[in-house]
Amino acid sequence: MYARSENGRVYHIIPRGQQFTLCGLRISRLVVTGRKHERAHFGPEKPADQPLCKHCERMDRKEGKNE
Ligand SMILES: [Zn+2]
Repeated sequence: MYARSENGRVYHIIPRGQQFTLCGLRISRLVVTGRKHERAHFGPEKPADQPLCKHCERMDRKEGKNE
């Protein structure tokens, strides 16, 4: 699953069944905190118009090596 903030700078990867993004942000915190336009949206689709969060990208590469 993917999380993107409405102001749209980056998106994050959320591993299946996890409560945290790959880079360690708590999902409930993404939803609840922040001004309205900064709240996150979630979905199964990778946002095509946003870059992946740098920290998530690094973690994703690391995980990929283990497969
Ligand atoms: Zn991230």
